[in-house]
Amino acid sequence: MIPIKKNKYTAWLHWNISAQCNFDCTYCFGKIPVNRSELREIDIEKLLGTLEKDGRIFRISFTGGEPFLIPNIVEACAAITKKHFVSFNSNLVLPNVEKFADRINPERVVFIQASFHSRELEGKKLFDKYLTNFQLLKSRGFEILAEAVAFPTDYELHDKYKIILKENGIDLKFAPFVGSLNSKKYPQSYSPAEIIKYGLDEERIKAHFQKGKLCNAGFNASVVYSNGDVYPCFQIKEKMGSVNDGIEFSDTLRKCPAKFCGRPLNNYDRRLFELGIVSRQ
Ligand code: SF4
Repeated sequence: MIPIKKNKYTAWLHWNISAQCNFDCTYCFGKIPVNRSELREIDIEKLLGTLEKDGRIFRISFTGGEPFLIPNIVEACAAITKKHFVSFNSNLVLPNVEKFADRINPERVVFIQASFHSRELEGKKLFDKYLTNFQLLKSRGFEILAEAVAFPTDYELHDKYKIILKENGIDLKFAPFVGSLNSKKYPQSYSPAEIIKYGLDEERIKAHFQKGKLCNAGFNASVVYSNGDVYPCFQIKEKMGSVNDGIEFSDTLRKCPAKFCGRPLNNYDRRLFELGIVSRQ
């Protein structure tokens, strides 16, 4: 549940800021290796102009790839959070994380989802960096949670790190894997025992299948691609504008047209979805 003091935004941009990632997790779809010369900076002035034109208070959730690879991500967050809110999905090991902890007001950060990628952290010897950055952000008052993908071939590693993290005061949660493995489709192939053991949220699994149900995608929530183009969600290909020169939101909620949804916006931020329902009445 998002704390009340951070509930002030009424619109949301879910920004897949770059597909580039410093990790190479098996279960990640769409990632590409880091090529710093091709990392695009955020045009802060144009972005703020777009938010201003819309007039609402926004939450911008940065995801990827790895958002802390963006060279001016901290400067962009410092400017955005003067009025709006941000949230992050990050593997937490890049130098920009410390800069972020020093410069950004935790009151304006809805949460940081510190994705725990055990195989990569172990292989790249970055577990200590993850832990140090997690504890730094926590000590500065940021809302932060550790979450791993319940990838079926990694259960042994998960069990090991769940204990180590617990010893360090961190409660590791699990999110369902979305994709195919050994001819099985996930998340629908988790057994009841796996669901219980990893505390998987059955509502969250069901939320991937909601063809015909109401969604606020394009109404008060939308997704942004790495080039800044804005769409209702990753399944609906109707361009709404760009973070660089304005976004046209729809004035109605829509019925979900997709058989399967990778990132159900109406479930990922329930409060905004409910606000959308209320504003129709
Ligand atoms: S595909 Fe997902 S985000 Fe898009 S309308 Fe359906 S539930 Fe909403």
